[in-house]
Amino acid sequence: MPLTARFSCFNDYDPDALSVEQARTFIRSQLTPLQTPERLALRSALGRILASDVIAPANVPAHDNSAMDGYALRHVDLSSSGESRLRVAGTALAGQAFTGSIAAGECVRIMTGAPLPTGSDMVVMQEVVEVAGDHVVIPSGQHCGQNIRRAGEDLAAGQAALAAGRLIRPAELGLIASLGCAEVSVYRRLRVAFFSTGDELCSIGTPLGCGEVYDSNRYTLFGMLHRMGCEILDLGVVRDKPALLDATFRQAAAAADVVISSGGVSVGEADFVKPLMTQLGEVLFWKIAMKPGRPMAFGRITAAGAGGEKGTSAWLFGLPGNPVAVMVTFYAFVRDALYLLMGADPLPVVPLLPARCSVALKKSPGRTEYQRGILSRTQGQWCVRPTGAQGSGILRSMSDANCFIVLEQDRGSVAAGDTVSVQVFDGLV
Ligand code: AMP
Ligand code: MG
Repeated sequence: MPLTARFSCFNDYDPDALSVEQARTFIRSQLTPLQTPERLALRSALGRILASDVIAPANVPAHDNSAMDGYALRHVDLSSSGESRLRVAGTALAGQAFTGSIAAGECVRIMTGAPLPTGSDMVVMQEVVEVAGDHVVIPSGQHCGQNIRRAGEDLAAGQAALAAGRLIRPAELGLIASLGCAEVSVYRRLRVAFFSTGDELCSIGTPLGCGEVYDSNRYTLFGMLHRMGCEILDLGVVRDKPALLDATFRQAAAAADVVISSGGVSVGEADFVKPLMTQLGEVLFWKIAMKPGRPMAFGRITAAGAGGEKGTSAWLFGLPGNPVAVMVTFYAFVRDALYLLMGADPLPVVPLLPARCSVALKKSPGRTEYQRGILSRTQGQWCVRPTGAQGSGILRSMSDANCFIVLEQDRGSVAAGDTVSVQVFDGLV
């Protein structure tokens, strides 16, 4: 079924008044993960998506071991009422096990992580023990099995330590290393081609002509795509000339999995981009109920044009031209879509968190707004305020910000002190 028909089946959505959630849901419903696996050395897999489950080849930890510095002993040797006196028969260090076995009335000095000596079934922490020469006095109130980490308690042999679809972050690198795996199977990187459109755009390195602006969208897009671990194909600035645009779209569709253009989708453009996109495939043009970022195109284009051969097509995101709108629409729609195509499951979510808005914000119901905010801790509370001017061309508003203030579609103006939702830009690395 053609994309346009699939879209109109989708609950009769109105392309001129689509909510952010509707657009996101529709995009997600159309995409399927690409999932070509490759094997990589562990470190190179950072930021990739696991292509198959990682199975624990052995128990982690491999042996029962001590969770404390203290004394390993046999519970049967402890007096049921008062103190117990035991002989220290040796020492067990992490990496240097006590090789004998504990006899009646004995204990072994043990360090955190050291394998539990044969015969012992509990550890008493050193802080409560009184040392008297080669003996120790253990107070009452100890329990069999205490202070022991059991073999396989972290991961049992044969169990899936990580499922396919997991994004590999530093914790996953460490977890895989803890299993002794030097290589992992991950999905190949997503190829993303992008370019900027507009006669007014000037690339850096060239003096600005009259009425020109430097192209910044290719740099923010580069940054966002690079952070997502995509293979990047920067096709430069393309003038508003049909033949040039046509050639660039075809080249992008042939080379990449996803094509991102910026500019040329708004109303009142010298409208070359939209008809061209339509000629090259199936493209939906939406006016999304959001600010910034209202116009956007989504579809699939083919290097050979509409109805062209398979295998040379790509998903298309036609983003608005305004620099802030590019970033907002990327985070609102493209990020999720790329993770889905990359095979991520679950999709990495950026949570919406409540914060107190320290100033009043003007807002009309009927569209979702992504104001750029500064979140800070004030008098024991997380408070947010917008960065200055919020025009969709003012990139400084993004640069000064550390979060979006996401004002929901139905919400009206915000009074100072009201709770708003924020989405923090950067997390732990
Ligand atoms: P458009 O969507 O093409 O009408 O562009 C909207 C606004 O964004 C215009 O003011 C453009 O000059 C500006 N713009 C478009 N593309 C870029 C870009 N790559 N870098 C900086 N500004 C841009
Ligand atoms: Mg333009």
